[in-house]
Amino acid sequence: MILNEKDLLNKKYKILICGSGPAGLSVALELEKNKIECLIVEAGDEFYSEKAQNRYDGQIIGNFPNNLSASRLSQFGGTSGHWGGTCRTLDDYDFKKWPINKDDLEPYLQESCNILEIPNSFREKQIAKNLKIIEFQESDVRFYDKYYKHVSNSKYIDVCLNSIINNVKIQNSKIQEISIKSKISFSIKADFLVLACGGIDNSRMLLWFRENNKSISRKLPIGNYWMEHPFKKIGSGVGNFKAIRKSFKNNFESFENFRNWGNFTVSISPTQNLINEKDILNSGVFLTLHDRNNDNLKNNVKDLLCVAPSLSKHILDLFDKNLLCGITLSSSWEQNPQLENQITLSSSKDFSGIPLIKLNYQLSDQTLRTAKEMVNQVGNYFIDQDLGRLGADKTIEESSSFISDAGYHHIGGTIMGNNQNSSVVDENLKLHDIENLYVCGSSVFPTGGHANPTLSIVQLSLRLGEHLTKKLKTI
Ligand SMILES: Cc1cc2nc3c(=O)[nH]c(=O)nc-3n(C[C@H](O)[C@H](O)[C@H](O)COP(=O)(O)OP(=O)(O)OC[C@H]3O[C@@H](n4cnc5c(N)ncnc54)[C@H](O)[C@@H]3O)c2cc1C
Repeated sequence: MILNEKDLLNKKYKILICGSGPAGLSVALELEKNKIECLIVEAGDEFYSEKAQNRYDGQIIGNFPNNLSASRLSQFGGTSGHWGGTCRTLDDYDFKKWPINKDDLEPYLQESCNILEIPNSFREKQIAKNLKIIEFQESDVRFYDKYYKHVSNSKYIDVCLNSIINNVKIQNSKIQEISIKSKISFSIKADFLVLACGGIDNSRMLLWFRENNKSISRKLPIGNYWMEHPFKKIGSGVGNFKAIRKSFKNNFESFENFRNWGNFTVSISPTQNLINEKDILNSGVFLTLHDRNNDNLKNNVKDLLCVAPSLSKHILDLFDKNLLCGITLSSSWEQNPQLENQITLSSSKDFSGIPLIKLNYQLSDQTLRTAKEMVNQVGNYFIDQDLGRLGADKTIEESSSFISDAGYHHIGGTIMGNNQNSSVVDENLKLHDIENLYVCGSSVFPTGGHANPTLSIVQLSLRLGEHLTKKLKTI
């Protein structure tokens, strides 16, 4: 049911969820399935509002490429209002630094795919010793469109819009009261509070709660190890499209036509063996074929004529036979967790009194090394299989600032782990110091792999909903 702030005065909930994005709504849906009442408090309105969005301003120190406000959305459904919808599970070896395994999330995969309305199919096929091709799925779900009416009619999920959780009162390691700034300011009680404010604001809220409550330890690395998925066009080339299609032939129908990318796009990843052997990070390389009219193709052929005249003869022959195509290589990389990549609080505050954020962000040499290694690996595969020739973008040799884009995936800051000195939440997503405060979203990922995060966020959220259901039975 949609409530207004006056309906909430003197009410107590078992579970209060802060944020109605994919994380918060998925926790609520799992609770609803188990007939448990919860309240979602959402800072934004039903649709976009400038007032709510202005709370996402902030300051960047370093080479973070995206605008902080445009990379998240404060409204019912959260950032899913303008997400791209690309989905894939993390690889099992992405969980090396996590306190849980891929198997722990597996029971929630089918339900997560139902929520996102995608097939539960994330196949892969090894094509060479060091490379595999992988399958993505594309979701068209906007959480507002799919769930606003549903929660409006729900007996178990209440939602209060235009309301900001702006503080908590903690005593005896438990949250006793939650302060909300709406048209009026008031407090509410709940047995458990779940922060599902997004991959930046989960850190922001916890840092702010800590400023106001001594019982949240200074040792917890809140805001640290913040990561993105750097993204960039990294190279181009020319090749024989029939041979390329044959070489990458697979039955991953839905990813052959990776949305909006061109006639044929195949996604290539390093094997675990390559990651270990070369000490690189996980990554996805997206190889797209273009037709003969593409400008890129003409330029690539011209470049090749200068540096490799005899190879160019072969290429021109393909051109005559109508077999030549242009190739663009783009890539998205995992970023390694670095303590100093962090979210801190600024001295400026939003209208609810919560400080805006400062983001300190640098790319590591390991990311750049991964970029170069993957262009080499895919380039060598093209030579070995005689599919054509690929060249890296010249600026790849310059510095890590070459990687100038990022995927709008906000990872880390409240990472999960067993050690209170090096992580913020435990394997059940509970804040180490506090008995009834949970955090959900990609901020809890200790490492980010290269896969887009939302499918994993939904899996973790359903798992948290189940965990809270069990907890409630014990009190
Ligand atoms: C342009 C773009 C493209 C993307 N494409 C993809 C993609 O293809 N695949 C993919 O997997 N991911 C993609 N993402 C990322 C994806 O949108 C996020 O992973 C996902 O939305 C995170 O869900 P969340 O619920 O954790 O946070 P959000 O969706 O950000 O929701 C958080 C909600 O919490 C509310 N909130 C925050 N603070 C408070 C407070 N104090 N009180 C009350 N409410 C609060 C906010 O208003 C917001 O509605 C994309 C993102 C962008 C910006």
